[in-house]
Amino acid sequence: MYICCMLFKEITGQYELKQQLIQTVKDKRISHAQLFVGTEGSGNLALAIAYAQYISCQNKQDDDSCGCCKSCIKFQKLVHPDLHFAFPVNTTSKVKKDATSDHFITEWRKLIIDFPYFSEFMWYEYIGIEKQGHIDKSDAEIIQQKMNFKPFEADYKFMIMWLPERMNTTAANKLLKLIEEPPENTLFLLVSKNIDQIIKTILSRTQLIRVPPVDEESMQKMLAAKYDLSPNETQVLTRLSAGDVLKAIKIYSRHETEQDFLDNFKSMMRFAYEYKFVELLDWAEEMAQLGREQQKSFLYFSQQMIRDNFIMNLKMQNIVYATEKEKDFFLKFSQFITPQNIESIYSAVNLALSHIEHNGNQKIIFSDLAIKLTQLIRKA
Ligand SMILES: [Zn+2]
Repeated sequence: MYICCMLFKEITGQYELKQQLIQTVKDKRISHAQLFVGTEGSGNLALAIAYAQYISCQNKQDDDSCGCCKSCIKFQKLVHPDLHFAFPVNTTSKVKKDATSDHFITEWRKLIIDFPYFSEFMWYEYIGIEKQGHIDKSDAEIIQQKMNFKPFEADYKFMIMWLPERMNTTAANKLLKLIEEPPENTLFLLVSKNIDQIIKTILSRTQLIRVPPVDEESMQKMLAAKYDLSPNETQVLTRLSAGDVLKAIKIYSRHETEQDFLDNFKSMMRFAYEYKFVELLDWAEEMAQLGREQQKSFLYFSQQMIRDNFIMNLKMQNIVYATEKEKDFFLKFSQFITPQNIESIYSAVNLALSHIEHNGNQKIIFSDLAIKLTQLIRKA
C-alpha cells in the first residue's frame, strides 16, 4: 500500500479518533503537547502526522486535508519546513559518534512514505543499528534550537517525537520547560507504544490521546485490498491481529515467505512416517547446505507447524491462521501430532535448534532429528 499523502482517509480505521482530532482544529482548542499512545500497528504515528498535515492544510475539508495545497504537497514528502521529527537512534557503521535524528532523516522519511506502520525493531534494522536507540542530550539541544524559530510557512510548527520512552533523563530535563511552555504556535506531538516507560515529568505535561486497536471491519477491508485472501482467511487474520495492522501483516508475510519451509517440513514428516531412511538422509544433507540463520528459521517454523497441527488435532482450528495450501496439509497431518507425542517432538526440534545455535555439525543435527522423528511420529 502506497500512501501518497498523509491523509486521514488513508489510515486504517480509527474513525472516531480522526473525528475528535479534526474537531480540536475546528474548535481552535489544539493542546500544545499531545501524547498519542497505542500499539505499533495502531496507526499512532500516521495519525500524528495526518493531524499535523490537517492543521497546516490551507484548504481544509470537513473531514480531511485537501491533499493538494502547497502545504499538503510538502507534507507528502515530509519536507515541510515546519515539520520536525525526533526518534531513537544510535551509532552505525556510517555515523560513528554523536548520532542524532538529523543523521537519519532521509531514511526516516523514506520508511514512513513507503508505509507508515513499522516497529521499533524494523526501524533499527532499516538504519543498521544493532543496539537499542535513544533520544539523548544532543537531540534535545537540536529540538530546542528548532522550536525556538518562528514557523516558516505554516501557522504552527510541529515536533513529532516517536518513542519518547527512549528519551534519557538528561534529554528529558532539557525539554521539560519547552514542552510545558512552548513558544507560540508550537506543537509537540509525542507518539508512544509504552506509556509506562515515559519519564513521569514529561508524561504529566502532555495531553493523553489513546489510540485504540483498529476495528475489525476496517482491518478486514485493509487486508482484502492488500492481499488476495479468501473471506475466511481474512476473518481469521483479522481476529489474530487484535486490531494491530503490523501484526496482521507479520502473520500474513510469515506464511507467504515460508512456502519452501512448508515443503521441507512436509518431506521431513512424510519420509519419517514412511521409514524412508535414504530419503531422510538426503533431506538432512540438503538442509545442511542452508545458512545457519535459514536453518534456525526453518526450525522455528517447524515448531509453529507442530503447535498449529496439535491445535488442529484438538479441533480448535479457528485459532490457527493457515493459507489454503497449509490447510490441506493440516487436515491430513494433524492426526499425527497428539497429546502423546507433542512434547517429545517439540523437544527434539528444540534440541536441534539449540545445537544449530551452538554451531554444531549441521548434517548430524538434521539427520539426528529426522531419525528421532521416525519413532516419535508413530507414537500418535
Ligand atoms: Zn491541503
